[in-house]
Amino acid sequence: MASSRIPMVAGNWKMNFDHLEATAFVQRFARDLRARRFDFAKCEVALFPSFTSLRSMQVLVESDNLKIRYGAQTVSVTSQGAFTGDVSADMIARLGCSYVIVGHSERRKYHPEDDANIVDQVRAVLAAGMQPILCVGESLEERRKGIELDFAVGQVHDVTRDLSDAEATRLIIAYEPVWAIGTGLVATPQSAQDAARAFREDLRATFDGQVAGTVRVLYGGSVTSRNAIELIEEPDVDGFLIGGAALHVDELTKICMET
Ligand code: PGA
Repeated sequence: MASSRIPMVAGNWKMNFDHLEATAFVQRFARDLRARRFDFAKCEVALFPSFTSLRSMQVLVESDNLKIRYGAQTVSVTSQGAFTGDVSADMIARLGCSYVIVGHSERRKYHPEDDANIVDQVRAVLAAGMQPILCVGESLEERRKGIELDFAVGQVHDVTRDLSDAEATRLIIAYEPVWAIGTGLVATPQSAQDAARAFREDLRATFDGQVAGTVRVLYGGSVTSRNAIELIEEPDVDGFLIGGAALHVDELTKICMET
């Protein structure tokens, strides 16, 4: 991690925890971080609950003046109207969200979220004043063919090529190799670094030099308190997007302390 960027620990709860469980988790998590004198100025912490918990998160964070941030796991590309089941970026922003995860591999797999839809989600999130966490990463098949970097950089480039410098600066990229998500198989620090550096080189070629230096690149895929320390030592890895380990307060607290 470069000292010029503030690292980030993001917990993606996926479809876990109702609003009562989410509230209880956050209360304990905030207490544990406080007890360990965790410095939020040196590391951003964000949680991504289900839509149904976002209002509870807002009330809790505002009433207890917590520094924990939060966001949504996906967003509609349309702003309002006859789209049953969809939630707009403005609705999410009104709940105090700072971020939205966009293009997670589970959304790409189980829902019709293709590249065009993902670009539109990124635009909707930016227009609503939040930051998108754009998830990219190769499958095992691409890795076996040795094209993992080209593939992941291509996924980033497909989104960034139409953004302005000002928009691109607000992007956060999460490198999440599909084969590492929820499998216990973690990318080596070197391959996380290679991907993060390749994204930055692509940003450098597309935008003003300052953009590449500002955009944070997170690593995601079977992150635990045992592998986080090595990964965060890499100069272009700026933190983590965490699934399974983010469901356990002790484990998530440990990762925050290590980042
Ligand atoms: P995992 O999930 O940490 O359980 O591998 C990561 C993610 O899906 O963001």
